[in-house]
Amino acid sequence: MPFLDYAPAPESTAILHLRESYGLFIDGEFVDGHGASFQTISPATEVKIAEISAANAQDVDVAVAAARRAYDRTWSRLSGADRGKYLFRIARLVQERARELAVAESLDNGKPIKESRDVDVPLVAAWFFYYAGWADKLDYAGLGPNPRALGVAAQVIPWNFPLLMLAWKIAPALAAGNTVVIKPAETTPLTALIFAEILQQADLPAGVVNIITGAGDTGSLLVNHPGVNKVAFTGSTAVGRAIAKSTAGTGKKLTLELGGKAANIVFDDAPIDQAIEGIVNGIFFNQGHVCCAGSRLLVQENVQDEVVDRLKARLSTLRLGDPLDKNTDIGAINSREQLDRIRELSDVGEQEGAERWTADCVIPKDGFWFAPTIFTNVSTSHRIAREEVFGPVLSVLSFRTPAEAISKANNTPYGLSAGIWSDKGSRILGVADKLRAGVVWANTFNQFDPSSPFGGYKESGYGREGGRHGLAAYLESSGWHSPAAISKGARK
Ligand code: NAD
Repeated sequence: MPFLDYAPAPESTAILHLRESYGLFIDGEFVDGHGASFQTISPATEVKIAEISAANAQDVDVAVAAARRAYDRTWSRLSGADRGKYLFRIARLVQERARELAVAESLDNGKPIKESRDVDVPLVAAWFFYYAGWADKLDYAGLGPNPRALGVAAQVIPWNFPLLMLAWKIAPALAAGNTVVIKPAETTPLTALIFAEILQQADLPAGVVNIITGAGDTGSLLVNHPGVNKVAFTGSTAVGRAIAKSTAGTGKKLTLELGGKAANIVFDDAPIDQAIEGIVNGIFFNQGHVCCAGSRLLVQENVQDEVVDRLKARLSTLRLGDPLDKNTDIGAINSREQLDRIRELSDVGEQEGAERWTADCVIPKDGFWFAPTIFTNVSTSHRIAREEVFGPVLSVLSFRTPAEAISKANNTPYGLSAGIWSDKGSRILGVADKLRAGVVWANTFNQFDPSSPFGGYKESGYGREGGRHGLAAYLESSGWHSPAAISKGARK
């Protein structure tokens, strides 16, 4: 077959109007933080993008006070229809500035531009459009009569989908009538700060959304602040556990979206070509920095060799490199710290006896990179089969019967997502019913929609984001009424 090469097709950064340094966004304005500032860099080049303020205790106090004032004086007095108008306005501005946001996200996070352009940013707009529609219909969300906002929400988000996680947090909170103080991750603050400019453009009343930057200590000050009524955290299970402990008994309502170790189960009757694409999307999308990534491939023994061979052939066609190049499939690892963790766990995989295969990619000289990697001969006790690698590393395990697949899939402390590939609808439904995972995809993977609730079991956290379930996390209500309970007339 003739070898086709791709000419570079980099997206221009000319559309960005970045400042050299960014303050904190509090009470509708950028102000200087009082903590030690830090730099955000491009993980693909290690070049500095901007200087970022860090919020200390005093700044967190000011931000929470601004959110409280805005709640008391403006936001809680607006009708749902008026809140909805602001959310629609934000959604449209995200669409207008979509290209700029996508370029900034790829620059700061390292994800390929085709993903930030075609997945992250469109979903951000979709989230605001969706919750804009709910703002004046809260009485019909199945959350009991007259559901009420909680007050001030403290929100802390990770670096893997910086702007999308911000949208998942802010859109339902505002629709439900809360005000917000949100902290983006320290390695990816850029799009949140551009979003602050969008809030100014949208004329959102001052203090309704406050964006404070900083590292884990800023996050800890925020979630433990006595002035917040609600804590919403997305990040690692270790930090989630610490937050659950420190907020216990405070009366703060808490939702935790944590890690995962999803099984992607391929039966021998699956459409194999389609499954290969789904496996690739499941674990190599966003460099595997995905909480619901299909990081454990469970494949039926009689098709294992075929699936692994075809997977290796497909991975050999992926292009790793400049995140801003439109042809790039695999971008940069978000930070040196994360790269070290991926390397360490992959080395452990080899030491424990699994067989390592790595796609033959040219690794750029600067920046943080890890080529797509597959481990075969993995057993359920191996650390690469149990711990979240959060990188482009797939562990392959085999099974013979559906019962064995279910038992292996559930043999994890996590329970966020799973995938099933089979030609038989009855098998899909039977297996899905027995998987302890918040989301189960059938003959597809990593599909997200604002109307569809997302969240975990066990160490993957609790609470749901998305759909009307996502509103429940931000409302004081007389009880959750599931559609089944309502249809059975069980509503009290
Ligand atoms: P992390 O827990 O280290 O950091 C997440 C956020 O918490 C960051 O903003 C960080 O600054 C902040 N933080 C750190 N220590 C804190 C503390 N003591 N108190 C309050 N805030 C603190 O996680 P990460 O490495 O940024 O993100 C990766 C993790 O996030 C993975 O485990 C991944 O699975 C998970 N994640 C889950 C979902 C989901 O929806 N379930 C989505 C995306 C990522």
